[in-house]
Amino acid sequence: VDVRTPEALAEAERWTAHNYHPLPVVIAEADGAWVTDVDGRRYLDFLAGYSALNFGHRHPALIAAAHAQLDRLTLTSRAFVHDQFAEFCHALATLCGKDLVLPMNTGAEAVETAIKVSRAWGYRVKGVAPGRAKIVVAENNFHGRTTTIVSFSTDPDARDDFGPYTPGFAVVPYGDLDALTAAVDDDTVAVLLEPIQGEAGVLVPPDGYLAGVRDLCDRRSVLLVADEIQSGLGRTGRTFAIEHEGVEPDMYVLGKALGGGIVPVSAVAAGRDVLGVLRPGEHGSTFGGNPLACAVGVEVIRLLQSGEFQERSRRLGERLHAGLRALTGHGVLQVRGRGLWAGVDIDPALMTGRQACERLAEHGVLAKDTHGSTIRLAPPLVVSPDEVDQAVAALAAVLADA
Ligand code: PLP
Repeated sequence: VDVRTPEALAEAERWTAHNYHPLPVVIAEADGAWVTDVDGRRYLDFLAGYSALNFGHRHPALIAAAHAQLDRLTLTSRAFVHDQFAEFCHALATLCGKDLVLPMNTGAEAVETAIKVSRAWGYRVKGVAPGRAKIVVAENNFHGRTTTIVSFSTDPDARDDFGPYTPGFAVVPYGDLDALTAAVDDDTVAVLLEPIQGEAGVLVPPDGYLAGVRDLCDRRSVLLVADEIQSGLGRTGRTFAIEHEGVEPDMYVLGKALGGGIVPVSAVAAGRDVLGVLRPGEHGSTFGGNPLACAVGVEVIRLLQSGEFQERSRRLGERLHAGLRALTGHGVLQVRGRGLWAGVDIDPALMTGRQACERLAEHGVLAKDTHGSTIRLAPPLVVSPDEVDQAVAALAAVLADA
């Protein structure tokens, strides 16, 4: 017991910037919904790489696609075209119901892409005066870590001391349609939102909000940009979280699970009238849309086309939420979310979210706290009903011991 974990933790601490505060678990192997640490302890992974592992660790179809591509071709750059590129972009455009796709690598890069495209669309199509384009975003957003993106964060940890900040953004309370309506003006080119705010604590907006945003954007000729990097690709029981309100955005921003937990793959998808504004040389990425990324991405989309994962998330999500709701009044204050995605507010009188996650790990379940006493649960969508029950039982035990 505890043979290799302390040394591995100390070494990681010794050699890296301290921009994370990981749980004291050192993972060596994984399969499906389970990970095994360097000392042979097994844990249920209820974080799933912040939803990058929607299909579980090492899904056989994804691993096979990656292996096959590794043996053929891994990188060309976009200076040339490769034989996986069109298939991936076609499949993703079809999944999104859009004309065009622009692949990148990380989520933040895809958000930056959406910002650049929205501004270019504003100047070239909407006719906004040079330098005046405005994008409206929501309080407590999380869209990534670049200097432009943290410029419109309202989280002091994410933003303070990283200025000077990029101008051109207005921030309004999330879920407040009146505030958004007041913030949109003739210079506004886009509204950028998470259909469910993930890092903020899995906040679901009020019914009708997203439909109201759609209507507002239509009336004011503003692009609705949905950051579905964490909420999309099956997590909420639908392919996209925004579908729950029957809303179609002008642009999807995708990442995380698009790479199957194997490679970083992100993208934006939009109509030709929007994404078609870009001209050669204006945007790009050495690795964006590389052959390995596209081969894995095609297989990810094939898994989603079956509908099996969305269905699992819907069905098992009901089980997860029912189990968690039963804990309200027993150490849990509130449960939010959709599908296999839950934000759970722990009674701060009992423990912090961090303490809850440390104790959950001792019970064999990995989860991650966010903001004070909230923990979020987002298991791989391959999790079994028994495993869902096991995680809920572990949380019940942690709360009962407090
Ligand atoms: N947008 C949302 C909604 C996210 O949840 C995240 C990551 O958590 C990002 C963007 C940033 O993605 P990445 O960490 O790949 O840059």
